[in-house]
Amino acid sequence: MTEFVCEVDEDYRSACKGLEFYGEHEGNRYCVLHFPDEEKNSDDFLKVVKSKLMQKDYDFSGTVFPKRPANFEGFDFDANADFGGAIFPTVADFSGARFSGETTSFRGAKFRGDKSIFSEVQFNGEKTDFSRAEFSSGEVTDFTEAEFSGERTDWVCPASTDCLPLSHSTSSHSSFLVLSGAEMP
Ligand SMILES: [Zn+2]
Repeated sequence: MTEFVCEVDEDYRSACKGLEFYGEHEGNRYCVLHFPDEEKNSDDFLKVVKSKLMQKDYDFSGTVFPKRPANFEGFDFDANADFGGAIFPTVADFSGARFSGETTSFRGAKFRGDKSIFSEVQFNGEKTDFSRAEFSSGEVTDFTEAEFSGERTDWVCPASTDCLPLSHSTSSHSSFLVLSGAEMP
């Protein structure tokens, strides 16, 4: 018997090493993280997420989150965190979280819910990458009091929003609130 290999894009397979087969979608076989249907069983999904967090494995690249809020509120990501290419179909809440690994990546992540909250997040790693991240159709994208203190931050202002460019100095304290399609508070 050969070991199950998830048929997600090869770049994302590091996230699901050792995970079992979860389901088939359009002829391809996926693990629970990468199964590309947001209607997946969120209990099975959360079990895997929790066990990864406990092992300080923060590689969630390419993960398709189920249709319930992704809650990482106050979480301490004390190693590299990779949410590159992840899809958040609903609320993504990282408020008060701390990223202190060398690299933190949300490169190409897609935030499709009505709220993406990064308020008071501390990005303390050397490199924080939000390049090509998409904040689409969201009502609230909140980076209030987020702190970027790494050496390098790759940041692309979410489309159709009005935000200040982050400075690339060693310590930039952002105090902007990005709102897209929402009323001002
Ligand atoms: Zn997978």
